[in-house]
Amino acid sequence: MMKTNDLDQGRWPIRVAVIICVHIAVTGKSQIQLYEKELADGQIKLYADNTDPVPYTIKLKLQLKNMVPGCAPGQAFVIPGKAKTHELTTLKAGKGKFAYHVQYESTKGINTGHHHDDNYVYDLPVSQPIKIIQGYGGRFSHADKKALDFGIKEGSNVLAAREGIVLETKGDGQHNCLEKGCEKEGNYIKILHADGSVASYYHLQYKGIGVNVGDPIKKGQVIGRTGNTGFSSEPHLHFEVYSLYDGNKKFHSCHFDLGPKKIISGDQLKPKN
Ligand SMILES: [Zn+2]
Repeated sequence: MMKTNDLDQGRWPIRVAVIICVHIAVTGKSQIQLYEKELADGQIKLYADNTDPVPYTIKLKLQLKNMVPGCAPGQAFVIPGKAKTHELTTLKAGKGKFAYHVQYESTKGINTGHHHDDNYVYDLPVSQPIKIIQGYGGRFSHADKKALDFGIKEGSNVLAAREGIVLETKGDGQHNCLEKGCEKEGNYIKILHADGSVASYYHLQYKGIGVNVGDPIKKGQVIGRTGNTGFSSEPHLHFEVYSLYDGNKKFHSCHFDLGPKKIISGDQLKPKN
């Protein structure tokens, strides 16, 4: 329902005027629908539906007249995957006329803080023996990233380094080059973890995605095949873990299990000269 309203006039249905997706490199549209119900006592309750199988985070921008919101300004709400009639907050009307105007912005996944369990021990995303071609902060393309590039021949198995659910995938990219325009050709899988962080597995083979959005993933599971798509000079797997807060990405340093009693920090995984 889209109605033009004026905050100075009486009771109006909610107007959802703007949907802003702030997720970095997001593909597709937000699958969130916001709506209201008027309760018998004149209060307005806001609800959200999510048609996607993965959670979204929304932030409300409220313009109210003669109403008191039940949430703090700028409060973020996480809407679980496939949620129906998920209650957000209540707007309490005072006596007489009141009006409300609600905007929201949505982000796929968790956008509520830079959460990451730093004690978690990840599996390697490819089989051993591994060859690191670029580490955290690498000058070639990781200057501002805690990301690892594992050199590996195309078509090798990509293994889930941690359990979670599939947040996003792309598998239709066919090309690689070292120009900015090639980034969008990169195939990938993103897996959302229980702590809200996300692991990205990049440069996968054309049609090399073995999972669907919303799938639960076990640690060690084969999820796809490595490739050389996107901004890439040679076959490799790019692996990074990040979290979002207000749309800003923070990269997290990870620990990896390298076999019997050998746990290593991602900072120590560097190319051999
Ligand atoms: Zn990389």
